[in-house]
Amino acid sequence: MFYVAVTRTKQQLCLHGLHSEPQSQFLTEAKYAMTLDAVAEIQQVLACDPQDWQASDLLSVLRHITAFGLERYFQQWWAAPREQKSALAHAIQRLYAAAQQRGWLTRLNLTPAQMAIWQAMAPLPIEHGPLDFPGLERCLPPDNSGGVSEPAMIQAGTWLLCDAGWARIERMVLPSGEVATGSVRRTAPARLLATLRPGTDAEVIEIDLIERRLVFEEAERVFVCGRCNTFISRDLNLLLNQHNRAAHGGTGPRYRQAQQNKWTLSRCVFSAQPPANVFENLSV
Ligand SMILES: [Zn+2]
Repeated sequence: MFYVAVTRTKQQLCLHGLHSEPQSQFLTEAKYAMTLDAVAEIQQVLACDPQDWQASDLLSVLRHITAFGLERYFQQWWAAPREQKSALAHAIQRLYAAAQQRGWLTRLNLTPAQMAIWQAMAPLPIEHGPLDFPGLERCLPPDNSGGVSEPAMIQAGTWLLCDAGWARIERMVLPSGEVATGSVRRTAPARLLATLRPGTDAEVIEIDLIERRLVFEEAERVFVCGRCNTFISRDLNLLLNQHNRAAHGGTGPRYRQAQQNKWTLSRCVFSAQPPANVFENLSV
């Protein structure tokens, strides 16, 4: 009866309790105090002008939605004007893409599954170039590892996550032109020849850590994922099938074709471990 009464509410629901009586088991199970706080916080963010949204606002909205299972509410019951819906859906997707481009999804606790409702609500138009979101950097948790998750030394076989996706180093060429035989410091100036997503339709790329450039050795044109901007491939099928499934939960793929084979390297994170899935863009 209680559930029916609560869920039939149209405008406002008032619950009264007696201090002399123990709190209702239903309210305890519903974690009502935390839930009401979360709802108040979401309302506060939604009442702001989208121009003023900071990364921390949207991250707390996303966290509350996941924690309290509010996805269905936003999907089916949220009666907001269309513009407000797209403003929120776009802002969240832009935030996600900016975090993804920097390799911060894991540190910010963001998952592709969280994006499904926003992509369905209002897909983000394809954006070019590096993405940014105000205040995103300040939301990172303090890095207690001091960044040691990245190996200090790199060598043939070391994995890396760059703007095009996951790759494995094959060879390292020093500024003298000499090929390094052992390992070098991660920060050493070098050109890396790497195999992008080895084992599939392996693509060879060159990563120039001096010029901060990424070059597709054997391609004149490539395809870029329009959802995250952090997956580039010669092979459109890899993007449409494998990457879209692994990184975007199989939501409709979007891409653009680029008539270029050189890119600015904005992201290059090394990992001693291979990734769980080479088509995903999450840091290990
Ligand atoms: Zn993508």
